[in-house]
Amino acid sequence: MLDILRRIVQDINATRNLSEALNLIVVEVKAAIHTDVCSVYMTDHTRGEHVLMATDGLRPGAIGKVRLKFEQGLTGLAASRAEPVNVDNAPAHPAFRYIAATGEAPFHGFIGVPIVRRRKVLGVLVAQQREQRKYTTDEESFLVTLAAQLAGCITQAEIRQALGRLDDDALSGTLFLEGVASARGVALGEAVVVFPATALDRVPDKDIENADAEASRFRQAVAAELAELQRLSERMRLLLSAGDRALFDAYALLLSSDSLVNGTLERIYAGNWAPGALRATVLEYANIFAEMDDPYLRERAADILDLGQRLLDRLQEEQIVNRPYPDSTILMGNEISVSQLLDVPQEKIKGLVSVRGTSTSHVALLARGLGIPAVFGVSNLPPGRLNGREVAVDGYTMRVCIQPNPALRQEYLKLIHEEAELSRGLQHLRDLPAETLDGHRLDLYANSGLFADIAAARSSGVQGVGLYRSELHFFLRDRFPTEEEQTTIYTRVLRIMDPHPVVLRTLDIGGDKPLPYFPIAEQNPFLGWRGIRISLDQPDLFKSQLRAMLRAGTAYANLSILFPMISTVSELSDALGLLHCAKTELQEEGVPVQMPPIGIMVEVPSAVWQIDKLIRMVDFASIGSNDLTQYLLAVDRNNDRVAKLYDSLHPVVLAATRHVIEQSRAAGRPISVCGEMAGDPAAALLLLAMGVDSLSMNLGSLLKIKWMTRSVRYDEAQALLTEVIDLDTASAVRERANVFLDQQGLSGLLRVGK
Ligand code: PEP
Ligand code: MG
Repeated sequence: MLDILRRIVQDINATRNLSEALNLIVVEVKAAIHTDVCSVYMTDHTRGEHVLMATDGLRPGAIGKVRLKFEQGLTGLAASRAEPVNVDNAPAHPAFRYIAATGEAPFHGFIGVPIVRRRKVLGVLVAQQREQRKYTTDEESFLVTLAAQLAGCITQAEIRQALGRLDDDALSGTLFLEGVASARGVALGEAVVVFPATALDRVPDKDIENADAEASRFRQAVAAELAELQRLSERMRLLLSAGDRALFDAYALLLSSDSLVNGTLERIYAGNWAPGALRATVLEYANIFAEMDDPYLRERAADILDLGQRLLDRLQEEQIVNRPYPDSTILMGNEISVSQLLDVPQEKIKGLVSVRGTSTSHVALLARGLGIPAVFGVSNLPPGRLNGREVAVDGYTMRVCIQPNPALRQEYLKLIHEEAELSRGLQHLRDLPAETLDGHRLDLYANSGLFADIAAARSSGVQGVGLYRSELHFFLRDRFPTEEEQTTIYTRVLRIMDPHPVVLRTLDIGGDKPLPYFPIAEQNPFLGWRGIRISLDQPDLFKSQLRAMLRAGTAYANLSILFPMISTVSELSDALGLLHCAKTELQEEGVPVQMPPIGIMVEVPSAVWQIDKLIRMVDFASIGSNDLTQYLLAVDRNNDRVAKLYDSLHPVVLAATRHVIEQSRAAGRPISVCGEMAGDPAAALLLLAMGVDSLSMNLGSLLKIKWMTRSVRYDEAQALLTEVIDLDTASAVRERANVFLDQQGLSGLLRVGK
């Protein structure tokens, strides 16, 4: 049965449209379970009907004509109960209804299995038998399994079909696709699809006639790549430190060395085409490096392969080296690399959409840092069909709209305009404090992780950086940065913000953030080796990071250090132990280090309930609401299937947050929130009411939250908190908080929330 199932699913995926897929299903299922009839009804929710869409066994003329009202007949029963109905003698069942249009003399055996996706009934798969027949448990589970698979296939087929319609008539329809993660903001522009390259090791050999022409083609590719590396390195200057840009220099060096280029040319003159000659040469050198004893040199094998791939891409796309990007480019692809993003001139890139990627993928972090609206994890996206189409990217709702109709287009343009107006209109708040109408002060800080966003933070007049995600610098390299390199980075960060405080968080990798050069394969990474757990198990890495931070702190006095993912008291005391050890070592080496303020992130339920103990061991705490929400609600923060359940306004998250804030205040320790919650106006309003000392957020949200703070009264916010904390659901809380914000004249902010 499993083989048949697999084959059917494969066959369906190869079909071109939905009706072809359904026709195929009915024929294959009928044969597989040896039954007289197999049909698929699709549910038309607007009309409240199940429509016969395909059948093998009933009169073909009935297709599209037989429309069963919801709950009508046994088919309706299967749909309304959302469970299989399996009866051996259908006419004897009270729900049975004879439908003449099908041309059937009554059938007896009946099984109807609902096709459900994300709680929504999409249709019913029905099998019938002339004689009385009770379908076996195996047959029933075969149909149930198939229906579950079908739900996904139907969604895909519907999307393909909708795209087909868009092809036929440019304005006849609009297609919405949903993602799982985003960078906030709205954008409208033209899709430019980028494809993953052919893998270098798959390139075949091919004989050539004109070696001179092929050699010159290759030389041009090398020259173009060298120029490109130079350009990329320049552009990265704003974003990365010199150390981080070293990768580009290493590539340039490899390209200028004779071996790679000459080796390839020799093979070309021996009669192979350029891609084949390149493959052979690159693999030869990569193997030599891979065999070396020195670990540093061994790792260069990856650089050689990478560079080979870049040259191959160039040979394959040589005509479009200087790709003309439209003025409003929406970059799309299965997976977009950092260099593909940086390849688009900054003034032309308006948005980003990718099939893969989560909120913490490289490119997502970069998009946020650069303020580019983006949607990631759009698993239904068929990029190949979208090049050149108009696309709207809505990072607030995590939706992508393909070919918006004129009304929607106007709506998106209006939103983009309003956003720009709102940001402009809030500029006058830049140097004003975040203080409520009745005089309660809140400190607002920016989250950061790159040089580009920290420089932007500095020039926007923020009070400091409340969360510096140090792992970003680890992501943008091809190996762990040394203590020296880290010291340079942290010193630069502290210098840019001086005298405003900067909270440097120690490495928070693992979970959904594995480093490319430190792979961690785990069944359950969010509950596995991540954050402080890795740091404690790799004291060498941890200590070099702590030493680098402390050394940076000797030049500027604005440093604080934050430990992520603390879940037990002993973890914290071990981390503090290593920190003291690093400090003593440095002092012994004659470095005049001071102990900076130390904090913990509260992002795990156990830390919430032991906060009274943990907080007394440190100087401050910061609530990581992104992880805290995922762990309290048991909802993976990057999984689109459960995205609807993920909401930091859930009353349980609010209660936990309030507990942490109250306990920290009771212990006399400053408490902050640095997850996405801090930049969500409704959530920030409630956090303010709880008495949080500071909020740290994406720079883009900062003035909006300041506007909110300056427009409300603290005592009224507290009354609102008392009212909502006992509500049952996140949506009820949000609704009530939004009404409150609206009443304060803040309706312009409401879109900014979830
Ligand atoms: C958080 O979990 O809320 C947080 C700020 O950390 P990160 O998003 O980097 O995991
Ligand atoms: Mg976190």
